[in-house]
Amino acid sequence: MNKQIIIINPPNNKIVLRDFYSSTISKGKYNWPNTDLLSISAILGQDFETQLIDANTMGYNIEETFSEVLKHNNIAGAVVAVGKSVLKEDYDFIEKLRILLNNKYPSSKISVVGGIIYHNALNEIQKNKFIDACILNFTTNDILNYYLGNFKDINNIIYRQNDEIVETELKLPEWGFKLPIPKHEQLPLGKYQLSHGKNRPLTSVITSYGCPHKCSFCVSGRIKYRYRDPQNIIDEIKYLISIGIKEITFRDNIFGFHKQKYMELLNGIIENNLKFSWVSDSRVDILDEELIMLMSKAGCHALHFGIETNNEDTLNTYNKNLKDQDYVKSTLELCRKYKIQSVGYFILGLPGEKYEDVNRTINYSVKIGCDYASFNLPLPIIGTDLRESSMKEGLVKETDGSYDGSSEPLIKNKDISSIELINLQKKAYRKFYFRLSFIIDKIKKIRTFFQLKMLLSEGYYLLLNRR
Ligand code: SF4
Repeated sequence: MNKQIIIINPPNNKIVLRDFYSSTISKGKYNWPNTDLLSISAILGQDFETQLIDANTMGYNIEETFSEVLKHNNIAGAVVAVGKSVLKEDYDFIEKLRILLNNKYPSSKISVVGGIIYHNALNEIQKNKFIDACILNFTTNDILNYYLGNFKDINNIIYRQNDEIVETELKLPEWGFKLPIPKHEQLPLGKYQLSHGKNRPLTSVITSYGCPHKCSFCVSGRIKYRYRDPQNIIDEIKYLISIGIKEITFRDNIFGFHKQKYMELLNGIIENNLKFSWVSDSRVDILDEELIMLMSKAGCHALHFGIETNNEDTLNTYNKNLKDQDYVKSTLELCRKYKIQSVGYFILGLPGEKYEDVNRTINYSVKIGCDYASFNLPLPIIGTDLRESSMKEGLVKETDGSYDGSSEPLIKNKDISSIELINLQKKAYRKFYFRLSFIIDKIKKIRTFFQLKMLLSEGYYLLLNRR
């Protein structure tokens, strides 16, 4: 029997999204399969038997997760996703996992993946003896070479060897990447859902990572952009259709950026008659009518856009690099024309913004006509310029504490008090969602029982949390 590697999304009593170099707590019930772990299952699956355990989605506690792990034999190691939002709990879990594996498999290795690991790997491995290796990129074969013991070929990993810590180079493919097919079938696919989802079962498929832009509040711009080979994506989708997948979230910060490559992907979906619905993240200034029309034809039903603020000075200060705010209006209009729902992401109260700026952004969110909106307070995410500049100005404390994006403002705004900012965030949600026109529009667009269930469930969470 081949050696086994157990790939774990750790338990937690909240729904934690820990992939794609960031982590957050689900504000409602939305949840998708961890992209990093899926990719790693594909890579390790070339030479090992791999088992994905999504303990978080299954609602397991630590003991239940361990009993799942112990159902497997001949364990060579474990890969665990960690998130800054719940780092203490994640490390507590890994420390106990180390003790568990030591009893039966003392030479097994535990490696970790996540945004905090990418930005702080050396520090994390030095401080935490239960970590054997930090994975800096989840699409290369380096993790496979690590577990096979081919140390001379390894890049993109920092690992422990004979009490020494070995740092390797960050070395990415020149242009893009391919992956074997990840082990989606090992996940509880019927349990994932998107807040404006259309269908289930749902899974995630990576189409690119990183971002060519460098917005100061976002970590993705610190990660070099690489896109995935379109034919390789289509092969994975064909497999997913064969196992009954009805909805996909394409994990991509900037879907459509390399127009030709994305046209190839979209045409491939259409020509192969691959029927599924999907969503992704994009930017308002990279999509044109040709692309949006093709996306709609290929099953896209929702796009997420970082609109951030209505304040042009803020956009420039934080390097959003949006040439013209008119793109917001025109792209949202095209989405409406081709029946793609738009979800706008806004940041309220970035340092330098005043009370009136935030109010203007709230009014703007309603005026531009996106279908859904998410209003967030600025976060001192590790690896961002915003964190560094805020620390220099004394607006945020250097702390190891966790943050989840749903609590108090973590970056002070000199002109808006924390209480005012929280009230502005509540006002934004009230103003956007508790409009008669919004409610009527959403009811009119319901086509399936699943959509009705999702709308009621997200509405319930909105009321319950009152943001
Ligand atoms: S906010 Fe969007 S465009 Fe800006 S760096 Fe992040 S992913 Fe890229």
